[in-house]
Amino acid sequence: MFRSLGLGKFFGIDLYVHPTFWLLPLFVFASGSLGGDVSGALFEVAVVLAVFGCVALHEVGHALAARYYGIDTRDITLYPVGGVARLERMPTKPLQEIVIALAGPAVNVAIALGLVGGLAAREYLLPGSLASPGVADRFLGHLTVANLALVAFNLVPAFPMDGGRVFRAVLALGLPRVEATRLAVGLGAAVAVGFGLIGLGLVPNPLTGTTAAQPGLVLVAGVVYLLGQAELAGVKAEATRRRLPWAVPLDEVPADRFTGWRWDARRGVWGLYQDGVLVREVYAG
Ligand SMILES: [Zn+2]
Repeated sequence: MFRSLGLGKFFGIDLYVHPTFWLLPLFVFASGSLGGDVSGALFEVAVVLAVFGCVALHEVGHALAARYYGIDTRDITLYPVGGVARLERMPTKPLQEIVIALAGPAVNVAIALGLVGGLAAREYLLPGSLASPGVADRFLGHLTVANLALVAFNLVPAFPMDGGRVFRAVLALGLPRVEATRLAVGLGAAVAVGFGLIGLGLVPNPLTGTTAAQPGLVLVAGVVYLLGQAELAGVKAEATRRRLPWAVPLDEVPADRFTGWRWDARRGVWGLYQDGVLVREVYAG
């Protein structure tokens, strides 16, 4: 089968490219070169690959902030809809979650500032150089705009996107974690429906005012919705486990002759055992 391509370690974290990622540059090249402008299409592919380099750095930002709080990152994988840093566990302290969530967009702000600063410094040293921009200038200009767009997009409060994580953490300052997650996931689902309607071309895009189908946005909407529901289920299960602190996880005790409650993390159920025999099951949430 297709396997993720390993790009080596970044700050000690394995970086992978998911096989489906390559559909994106392929799609960009195919749609760009249809009109016969092959060099223009190659330019767009180069921009897309550079933007995903910035997405990878964004994920490294999350991972390094998490490491600061003692949370390891298993790996970082790039998908056509974005990057994912798989943290060993989620921070439960709201302020830690806010810092970790903002560390990703902060990397893109830094990259954009660096690019703008570089272009300004060259204009200062070589006055008039921006008046006749070359291919490299256009490339860096696109990359700057893309990084700013990444910041704006990631801060949309659609849990589990970064802005949604900040929203959940702010709510969790005053609410139980499950309640905060439920509200953040609810808002995330509403935003996902909005993304979906815009992506399907049923509602005009508020940024451009035009109506056009955007398959990528529909994909993002689906991913935001599904990951939000999955994480809500995980938080509920964790809360149930905390409410029953005397229960023993399934893998920490021998299966036979056990009496008491055990948590089956794989199935998300509590089991009441009597001498190793399951007598009752309770579903979390
Ligand atoms: Zn992020």
